[in-house]
Amino acid sequence: MLRSPRSAAAFAALLSLAACGGGDASDKAATDTAATAIPDVQIPELSLATLQEVTKELSSDAYEGRAPGTPGEEKTVAYIIKKYQEAGLQPGNNGQWTQDVPLVEITAKNATPLSFTGGKTPVTAQYAKDYVAFSWRVQPKTAIKDSDVVFVGYGINAPEKGWNDYAGLDVKGKTVVVLVNDPDWQTKETKGEFNGRAMTYYGRWSYKYEEAARQGAAAVLIVHDTEPAAYGWNVVESSNTGTQYLAESKDGGAKETVANGWIQLAKAKELFASAGQDFDKLRDAAKVKGFKSVALTGVKANFSFDNEIAKKMSRNVIGVLPGAKRPDEYVLYTGHWDHLGRCTPVAGDDICNGAVDNASGIAGLVTLAQAFKTAGAPDRSIVFLAVTAEESGLLGSKYYAENPIFPLAQTVGGVNMDALNAVGPAKDIVVVGGGKSELDAYVEKLAKMSDRVIKAEPTPEKGFYYRSDHFSFAKLGVPMFNFGSGNDLIVGGVEAGKKASEDYEKNRYHAPGDEYEAITNWDGMMSDLRLYYAAGRMLAMTDAWPNWVEGDEFRAARDKSRAGK
Ligand SMILES: [Zn+2]
Repeated sequence: MLRSPRSAAAFAALLSLAACGGGDASDKAATDTAATAIPDVQIPELSLATLQEVTKELSSDAYEGRAPGTPGEEKTVAYIIKKYQEAGLQPGNNGQWTQDVPLVEITAKNATPLSFTGGKTPVTAQYAKDYVAFSWRVQPKTAIKDSDVVFVGYGINAPEKGWNDYAGLDVKGKTVVVLVNDPDWQTKETKGEFNGRAMTYYGRWSYKYEEAARQGAAAVLIVHDTEPAAYGWNVVESSNTGTQYLAESKDGGAKETVANGWIQLAKAKELFASAGQDFDKLRDAAKVKGFKSVALTGVKANFSFDNEIAKKMSRNVIGVLPGAKRPDEYVLYTGHWDHLGRCTPVAGDDICNGAVDNASGIAGLVTLAQAFKTAGAPDRSIVFLAVTAEESGLLGSKYYAENPIFPLAQTVGGVNMDALNAVGPAKDIVVVGGGKSELDAYVEKLAKMSDRVIKAEPTPEKGFYYRSDHFSFAKLGVPMFNFGSGNDLIVGGVEAGKKASEDYEKNRYHAPGDEYEAITNWDGMMSDLRLYYAAGRMLAMTDAWPNWVEGDEFRAARDKSRAGK
């Protein structure tokens, strides 16, 4: 599970996750259509012994915390292949068990201050303290020189909403300044053009960078503001000043901007004032549809830094169980095998074993593979994808989704497993990103089957849906489940659930204490795994192609990918 700026609260949030089951009345027709197509499925006995054996093995010290590119990777990949073979899967990459994932590490060095000249008064922002920047282009030096500056509001181009902050604008070679989050983030409800306080992908920093790049901007600077960002400047600074990790693209990142970065709110205000503009006024104006971007006329941006570049090869592991009737249609199970490797020692222990995060998810993949094989192949094929480099930014899943072995247009949907429930069986189910796709109807059925209640995601404004491997697929149109136990435990209720998840987050999350011996309850994992089995089996037995609800940011990608079918 990803750490900050996705925040150390990720685990607590997952366990306190909740869902909205459903969307509003306008989604109902789509949901009903999907509901009629959901088949009944039998859930076979799942092997607790396998779940425990795989979790124990992968989280043992011999694997050194499973960092990509280390001897720990060699052992991990070999072990997963062995377990896939034993489970009766076939190699998933044209006879091979693995897909190479080329990784690049880029570290900015010798960064200059960011200076804005040409305004009423020069404005200087110090690196790390007032601004941060890095490059996704694999090149030794990054320089922004005398670049015009344009305020583009939220920096959103959403054709399905008729919203385009770049309308009529040419930002080629320019530096765009954007607001974090999306225009209706202050709304109390989770309804509205951009889902109210729930974050859409248009609100995420990665979207801001991607859209600026599509528009041809040289640089993008996101104005930091703690509330809409959901984290302080300290998180922005620590996440953006060290090494940045990429999956290598063939063009070396030529399609990216020259530089991505953030600027402190106070500095942004100084910058706007130097151009004779009022930041607060423009920020308010940017919330309204039809907002016209504003050039900070006369102001030029300048900064530069060197890039230290290191490359290494890692691997995704892929096994497949061919479908009995429609083998060229695929249901995905994903989980990340990587973890943090050697880390800050606690009481002399410097191995971040990652037992829950995410040896448990890989153990889940193997356990489900066995169960599917034993129960007999479903109509559609099942792909078991163990991805690398999730902890460095969802890189293995992103690489697979952009270079799929099985076409995404033929991929029905899937289930991502990241840090299974180690705190005990729950009375509730929380869906992260509920209300977005027709998969909600499946979760409703699963809740009925398991006698659990669906609860709303408690903090949709934090955008957790965009922070684990399922998102790599969602972004390209494939609907993916992200659900699991909420906090309301069968034994001890909400109080016990909160206590247990807070205890994990404080004492073991991304720390050497996330060890096999610390997992004292396996019943919660087993009950969630049964639901994950059923979810995948349903998708593999229906002939439906679940889609995103009308107006969702990922629907266009799905429609486009399915159009040729
Ligand atoms: Zn993690």
